[in-house]
Amino acid sequence: MRQRYCRKCGEWHALEAWPPDCFARAHVSCSNLSSPNFISDTLDPVQSQLDGRIYDSKSRLRETYRNAGVVEVGNDSSVMNPVPKRPPGIKREDIKASVAKAFSRAGFGS
Ligand SMILES: [Zn+2]
Repeated sequence: MRQRYCRKCGEWHALEAWPPDCFARAHVSCSNLSSPNFISDTLDPVQSQLDGRIYDSKSRLRETYRNAGVVEVGNDSSVMNPVPKRPPGIKREDIKASVAKAFSRAGFGS
């Protein structure tokens, strides 16, 4: 009977009859919380830009924003000063090259 040293309990167990309690956990780095990506509602006290009060709850702060009908945008410049996208310019040489290619394919090339 082959045995192997158990790093969990420090004993030797048969490979065929490994105790269920001695199986290693699959994800050692996981926390014991039921939700690994837990985002709490609390934050360092901040002053609302809307009413000037101090808030330490994200949900209560955003509730005031929602009730006032304003949008929280942070400091993202693409939201504050959106720059419209311009279509890429087409160069005259590219048009000439494309027309020449089409003529060439049709058998009228130079
Ligand atoms: Zn063991």
